[in-house]
Amino acid sequence: MNDGTKIPKNHREAALVYASLDIKVFRVRRSKAPYANCPRCDRQSSIYIQHRPEECQCGVPTCHGFWAATTDPTLIHKWWTEEPDANIGAPCKLNGWAVIDVDPRNGGHASLCALEQRVGVLPGTTMQITGGNGLHCFYGSPGFDLPGEPFPGIDFKHNGYVLLAPSMHSSGNRYQWPGNGLFHKPTAPWPSTLLPRKEKPRISGQPRRQQSLSGIRRPGKQWTVDTLVQHVMDAAEGNRNASLYFAACRAHETAEQGAIDLYEAETALSDAGQAVGLTASETIATIRSAARRTADHTWAAA
Ligand SMILES: [Zn+2]
Ligand SMILES: [Zn+2]
Repeated sequence: MNDGTKIPKNHREAALVYASLDIKVFRVRRSKAPYANCPRCDRQSSIYIQHRPEECQCGVPTCHGFWAATTDPTLIHKWWTEEPDANIGAPCKLNGWAVIDVDPRNGGHASLCALEQRVGVLPGTTMQITGGNGLHCFYGSPGFDLPGEPFPGIDFKHNGYVLLAPSMHSSGNRYQWPGNGLFHKPTAPWPSTLLPRKEKPRISGQPRRQQSLSGIRRPGKQWTVDTLVQHVMDAAEGNRNASLYFAACRAHETAEQGAIDLYEAETALSDAGQAVGLTASETIATIRSAARRTADHTWAAA
């Protein structure tokens, strides 16, 4: 299976590792205040030349926010040597991603549960725990822009950027890859159940039914220990850790509703994780990460 990549704690080293994986990154100030554009790119300036960011030829490497993102190691080295604490931004569309951003401060976890009740469980994929104790689910770009904020606390990020671990949130918490901290490059396509109706693929002559990307869809049904285990067992190679994390989060949520026994679920998920090839320590670390995320109950009341 895909073993994932260890991301260094040092921001400059981490940015260089992402770039080596062909991920475009750019500097983001802690305050998120953008770097000033050069006079030719600054609409307020007298020598502004009208142009689209993607067609900029000014040669100044920080103009136009996330459009400045690069995989050039020399430039990345320079940026983070100048500002070692700058956060690591990655534009979504330019990296071929669309990201589901779940923000617990605005009821995102409750919205995610409600969304999954409606369309079925989202396919397992690369996930990041945000510094705000939220979640980023990374999918391949569907090739067109998505509605920005379809539900309270949920943002479909495509024409924008996300911060990558180990960037620091304003709360002082770091973004992190769950479990053992390994990064897996996203490979799962954007969920077909979240496409606008006219974009949904349909196979003619076949009755319409939900296409399974992760192997399991249970619209409107409650998780059981068996279906959680099945979710882990069905995970595609390279997504096993993320699927285990996903299942462990659902185990907590379902246990909080009193529908399953948490200890029984965690024990079964631990066995399932090892059955699909994760090590015992990876499995424990991932299940602990899920427990840490759900230890914050601010969202559970929503
Ligand atoms: Zn410029
Ligand atoms: Zn420009």
